Amino acid sequence: MTQAAEQQSVFAGVSAAARAFVEREHGHYIGGEWVGASGGERLPVHDPATGTVMTRVAGGQGADVDRAVSAARHAFEDAEWSRMRPVDRERLLFRLADAIEAHADELAEIESLDQGKAVGMARNLDLTMAVDFVRYMAGWATKIDGRSVQPSVPYLPDQQFTGWTRKEPVGVVGAIVPWNFPVLMAVWKLAPALATGCTAVLKPAEETPLSALRLAELAESVGTPAGVINVVTGEGHTAGAALSGHPGIDKVAFTGSTEVGKLIGKAAMDNMTRVSLELGGKSPVVVLDDMDPAAAAQGAAQAIFLNHGQVCTAGSRLYVHSRQYGAVVDGLAGIAGGMRLGSGRDPQAQMGPLVSREQQQRVAGYIDSGREQGARVAAGGHTREGGYFVEPTILADTNHDMRVVREEIFGPVLTVMPYDDLDEVARLANDTPYGLGASIWSNDLSRVHRLIPKIRAGTVWVNCHNVLDPALPLGGFKQSGIGRELGREVVDLYTETKTVMMSI
Ligand code: NAD
Repeated sequence: MTQAAEQQSVFAGVSAAARAFVEREHGHYIGGEWVGASGGERLPVHDPATGTVMTRVAGGQGADVDRAVSAARHAFEDAEWSRMRPVDRERLLFRLADAIEAHADELAEIESLDQGKAVGMARNLDLTMAVDFVRYMAGWATKIDGRSVQPSVPYLPDQQFTGWTRKEPVGVVGAIVPWNFPVLMAVWKLAPALATGCTAVLKPAEETPLSALRLAELAESVGTPAGVINVVTGEGHTAGAALSGHPGIDKVAFTGSTEVGKLIGKAAMDNMTRVSLELGGKSPVVVLDDMDPAAAAQGAAQAIFLNHGQVCTAGSRLYVHSRQYGAVVDGLAGIAGGMRLGSGRDPQAQMGPLVSREQQQRVAGYIDSGREQGARVAAGGHTREGGYFVEPTILADTNHDMRVVREEIFGPVLTVMPYDDLDEVARLANDTPYGLGASIWSNDLSRVHRLIPKIRAGTVWVNCHNVLDPALPLGGFKQSGIGRELGREVVDLYTETKTVMMSI
């Protein structure tokens, strides 16, 4: 195919607005201006469904990050932003939510082109959640308060004091996000930063930089002051490392792999930068023996195949009572085997490509390792030509010595294991370095209640999986992270508590 024909096939059915945005040359967004990379480097952006290069973005280096951090510091300390009242920040966030909503169709197309996911899913899930979360955080801007305390001061009994606490913005936030839900992850960092009065430098993943850049344009269009939001595109080991280790930022908000999270935590600690980490997972799905096997198979399929398995809380380890094990595996094999793969713009497709060639090969390598270690491939197990496709795969008869059970695959691969009693399945569910999510499938409330406290995970779902709400916190136990996003807990991540003690 010629280059023009390739571009034509990538953008078939895509709106003129989304196409025009994607094909534009993109710089960094710093201090309210669009600027090229200081070193002149440009990184290609691929369509995962075909591998075609759609556009290029700036490849950020330390100098770009320096410039963005200065712009964010200036906005935080000296400019109009620091004088903005909470109610004005609230209004700004409501306007931003309205702008994202008004452009949700276009953003969903950009996300699909960049990430590979279905336009419909991006529109209904990613964008809807993004809009709701910005509105949720807008409400918080005017509700951040401290406590008033009457101190006793036992060693100064004759004097009187009054004391109170203030929640103050932590300052300049360095936000580093992954490629699985690009616009949603960006909003999960930027909305709390703005609600609390912080400023931010956002580095999107190198695989999916586009929606963050469009978000910056929308933020500007609704009156966000220059420097409050800055976006630097580039690779993790250059732009990301420069940002997380930058002495000019006050907090790093990171979502990504546990491996990179550890590097970021260490870099941040050198400057005592505040850090919150939303990391990887290997979430168990536990089916109790009162469940109908067909319903269990449906639930487990949704838990693993959402976003092609590229979900931090993906239910990637399935435990089924040995009496129902065969029926559930057969049900899953039928569901996975019947799924149609295709581009995110194909309305008939039930699963799109993975985000990159690298991720496709990584997932294929895990499937091979499962085979070598004795897993039975009950469905799928192969890559497909054209784009970065991996078949939805069920690996049955797995065990905890296998890499496919121990390590996060981050693709459409489910491992299935039988168990016999409740204590055994609780032990197996916890036999992982991760602790992000888990689900229990049963209508036996007494056993469900006994299991919930035994499972060491930040979220336990019952008869559902991967269901999130702006008002409920999300985060990890163990190596799945530090801190909680969403819910009222997120306010603590973006504020410092100041104690005031006054002699009266
Ligand atoms: P990743 O860790 O490879 O990259 C995430 C981000 O970190 C990217 O922007 C990348 O450029 C940057 N980065 C890479 N190396 C860096 C370095 N040395 N210094 C600073 N930044 C660096 O993760 P990914 O492959 O993009 O995303 C998948 C991972 O994200 C999975 O492990 C998944 O579980 C996790 N995730 C977690 C949550 C959660 O809420 N817990 C949500 C989504 C994804």
